[in-house]
Amino acid sequence: MLSPTSLEIIEKINRYSANNYHPLPVVLTKSAGTRVWDVEGREYIDMLSAYSALNFGHNHPRLVEALNRQAKLMCVTSRAFNTDIFAEFVEHLARFCFLDKVLPMNSGAEAVETAIKIARKWGYTVKGVKRNKAEIIVCDNNFHGRTTTIVGFSSTPQYRDDFGPYASRAFKTIPFGDAEALERAITKNTAAFLVEPIQGEGGINVPPEDYLNKACSICREHNILFVADEIQTGLGRTGNKFCFWHQCLSPDLLIVGKALGGGLLPISAVVGKKEVMDVIKPGDHGSTFGGNPLACAVAVETLKILEEEPLIENAAKLGKYFMGELKMMNGCQQLIKEVRGMGLLIGLELAVEGGRKFCEKILERRVLCKETKENVIRFAPPLTITKEEIDLALEAIDCVLTHW
Ligand SMILES: *Cc1c(COP(=O)(O)O)cnc(C)c1O
Repeated sequence: MLSPTSLEIIEKINRYSANNYHPLPVVLTKSAGTRVWDVEGREYIDMLSAYSALNFGHNHPRLVEALNRQAKLMCVTSRAFNTDIFAEFVEHLARFCFLDKVLPMNSGAEAVETAIKIARKWGYTVKGVKRNKAEIIVCDNNFHGRTTTIVGFSSTPQYRDDFGPYASRAFKTIPFGDAEALERAITKNTAAFLVEPIQGEGGINVPPEDYLNKACSICREHNILFVADEIQTGLGRTGNKFCFWHQCLSPDLLIVGKALGGGLLPISAVVGKKEVMDVIKPGDHGSTFGGNPLACAVAVETLKILEEEPLIENAAKLGKYFMGELKMMNGCQQLIKEVRGMGLLIGLELAVEGGRKFCEKILERRVLCKETKENVIRFAPPLTITKEEIDLALEAIDCVLTHW
């Protein structure tokens, strides 16, 4: 039940905020670690982690400390000047990814746009694609962000329809998980294949085990760039530094965002091989806030935390436990179509309509999560979560399904 205070706040939001989200009926005001509190003081376990932006939990002390330290020193300069912390950030991120060069942006969608620009310019200036003919291959059910270019190749009607016109023939869509389809779709004009190693918004879709490897070799064979969008799957989420790390491959361009800002602020980047990144020349691309000292300081600390604290191991271990328990959930099997995922990126597909209903019901049991694709519930808690907390969440999930 919403209190008068919560209702008043929600009314204000409905009145003054554009209606582009449909939030769950809760008003949050405070957070720490894996927990958040509403304005009535009720405590919740956060099993969404801001769509994986909060891999380190809320207000991680080391990150808050790094933010405060840098805020007192210097926050924004623009890239018109060099800064010491920017140097530290690009070196650290490039080495962390085992790649050569970094181009920083702010949001995930901006980084995807950046990768598209790099891939196209590489297509024209290195591969020799005829000017304005470059094609990029993407997957059905993809999610790469919300800019006009990106929604133009979304297969989700609501994300795409009414926002055209779009550049036709610039993107080609193939089924996700089908390496042969990739091979068939390649033409002399293909510059890149852009793919999420696991589709997040698309419903936590895990491709066949050898898919990424096959796709990557096909790209090599045909001289096209393999571009991995690890904005949601990267930085420990799937129980490895990056999801593609589970395979033996190295993308030409890697896109990171979300958790890179430690859950404190937005920062994203394209990280890539030198010979590809070097197609970008001064003036080709940029962003006023991209690579700002404040964000760089936080991002450096996020990388250090991933290297020093056992979060990635925790994601692998507890992810396996969580998924195993969900698969064995007694008495609820007629309501569960499938449980899938990797590490702490887990999707529970309901056999019935009602993803939203599930999230509202589990909210009453003090667990926060959000559906994707109508009837897939995504569980993506902070990587700092404990087994005891997962057990609490499992109990709530069990209750909701038992009382469905
Ligand atoms: C969230 C997401 C994006 C977009 O990031 P924003 O910061 O919301 O622009 C792009 N790709 C993937 C895989 C994502 O999960």
